[in-house]
Amino acid sequence: METITVPTFIDVAHRGASGYVPEHTRASTVLAHGLDVDYIEQDVQLSRDGIPVVLHDLYLNRVSNVADVFPTRQRPDGHYYVVDFSLKELKQLSLKPRTKSDGELRYPDRFQPSSLVFPIQTLAESISLIKQLNRTRNKNIGVYIEIKAPRWYHGQDYDATAAVVEVLKEQGYKDGEAPTKIYLQSFDPETLRRLKREFHIDYPLVQLIADNSWNESGVDYDSLRTYAGMESLSAYADNVGVWLNHLLTGVEDNQPQWSDILTHAKRTNLNVFVYTLRDDQLPAGVTSLKQLRDWLKKAGVTGAFSDFPDKK
Ligand code: CA
Repeated sequence: METITVPTFIDVAHRGASGYVPEHTRASTVLAHGLDVDYIEQDVQLSRDGIPVVLHDLYLNRVSNVADVFPTRQRPDGHYYVVDFSLKELKQLSLKPRTKSDGELRYPDRFQPSSLVFPIQTLAESISLIKQLNRTRNKNIGVYIEIKAPRWYHGQDYDATAAVVEVLKEQGYKDGEAPTKIYLQSFDPETLRRLKREFHIDYPLVQLIADNSWNESGVDYDSLRTYAGMESLSAYADNVGVWLNHLLTGVEDNQPQWSDILTHAKRTNLNVFVYTLRDDQLPAGVTSLKQLRDWLKKAGVTGAFSDFPDKK
């Protein structure tokens, strides 16, 4: 009897199940786990005492009540930087639904502001929680860790990469062991090269590719997206993380139009992850998140980050 091989697709909970509860909270981690995703993402910033914490922005003001708790602690640019606060201070804050620069909710139809308390998680706590849930639920859900802004932290005299590697060791990721499945990702090529060369990390690495307009680092991402660029990065990474808008260029006659990235990836043996799928922010011409995910899967994409990882 002929068997049909169904290609697998890796569903990554983007900042936890962030479509349903505030991003990177313990609640978003637990909910993502309960939704049986394949991986749960942790973005990592550093506290003043150099401890990796799970937060997306360099700043606290758009995702926490920092301005109420520490009203005088912003820098001259008006931002409250994570790295200006000790872990003890960070633990006094509560995470809240993300706001825009004008203070309005970034996603007005999602979780509403409330008096519920959501503490900031350290990276160690987030990994421990997932390990415990894997144990109690008999699952093998992985971590998908992003080392954020390593060059910026270097300028503040911190080594974000070394700090993350230290936590991983403490959590049992050493000597070829991995207590959970794991990917490590960064927008910074030098960070990924260091992970291999200096820290001898053998876990799968993901080169994130930004849009140059985001000023993500000194890297020219336009050239990194070319065939030559992708070939060069395949020397140190097996995966790329690509912005959805760089991959899906449009929809014509109800069919997705893809950029050259997929053919480049195929020729250079790179797996492609896509960010970010959002039910409340579908690209023009896409009718549902399920349709988009199906298209990506059919096109040979390896996996995707989704704020709504159960919609598939
Ligand atoms: Ca991320």
